[in-house]
Amino acid sequence: MPRGAEQDRLALVSTVITRRLFLASGVSSFAALNGQAKFSFWVLGLLKPSQINVYPLSNARLHLHSAQGASIVEGEGAFTVDATRTPIVVAGPNKSPVSFLLEIPGVIRRRYFGLLAITSVGRLLRPVVTMDGEVAVGSIAGAELPGRGTPIHALSAQAIAARSFLCAAAPRARHIGAQFCDTTHCQFLRAPADSGSVVEKAVQATRGLVLSSGTAVIPAHYSAACGGQTDSAELDNYQYRSVVCEPCRRGGIVRRGHGLGLCQTGAISLAKSGWQWQDIAAKYYPGCVIRNV
Ligand SMILES: [Zn+2]
Ligand SMILES: [Zn+2]
Repeated sequence: MPRGAEQDRLALVSTVITRRLFLASGVSSFAALNGQAKFSFWVLGLLKPSQINVYPLSNARLHLHSAQGASIVEGEGAFTVDATRTPIVVAGPNKSPVSFLLEIPGVIRRRYFGLLAITSVGRLLRPVVTMDGEVAVGSIAGAELPGRGTPIHALSAQAIAARSFLCAAAPRARHIGAQFCDTTHCQFLRAPADSGSVVEKAVQATRGLVLSSGTAVIPAHYSAACGGQTDSAELDNYQYRSVVCEPCRRGGIVRRGHGLGLCQTGAISLAKSGWQWQDIAAKYYPGCVIRNV
């Protein structure tokens, strides 16, 4: 094995080990990394990809590291990954996050900003994107609520709920090799918020803020429509209390989802009638306080 490849392999192994130690420590990612939180997402798993094309975006230079050695892809370039090329790690210069697009040919194209690691199980590829916490929050808020036409205070309430979930749930990895997946099993996640978009503004308005009950950040649950009244349940040391949701009641809106915590339909309606995100969060997460992590 050439020296460079061996170094890359060692770097990969050391990254994996560091990650394991970090996850095993049980410390909140936010606290441990002093604001430089990173979260890992197993993406596109539902689509069971056996081949993925990777394209650099925004003039990015993609640094590839695999058993075959290190290389760079930039400009109009792209590369194809199948199980024979795994494991492979893709990053910017000096392991910095980078802007790239993943394509499952004929199925989906989605952009990301972060570090990419692709492993395989049999022929199936497992792409894992590790991204900055605020990038993840924007990618979730924009996936959960439509960016166009949704008032910023509804998006901000969604952003703080998503950040709280990530922060509280991060110490225990929910998947092999990744803390989260990109489906509603963990957090529905798509592309990062566009620069200057209302989603980006909502993330910035709540930057670093989470919902906490006592001293603990709550892994905040939320659903599409509560149907007029949210549910009560004690989960993860937080007592969800049932609250009346006037917008669902007035609109005769039926329940979609589990009905715990933030009602997205209610939040949008309340924000349209002038509610601030702090008041929306307080309504659907009674007893919680907003604090900085
Ligand atoms: Zn999951
Ligand atoms: Zn509702």
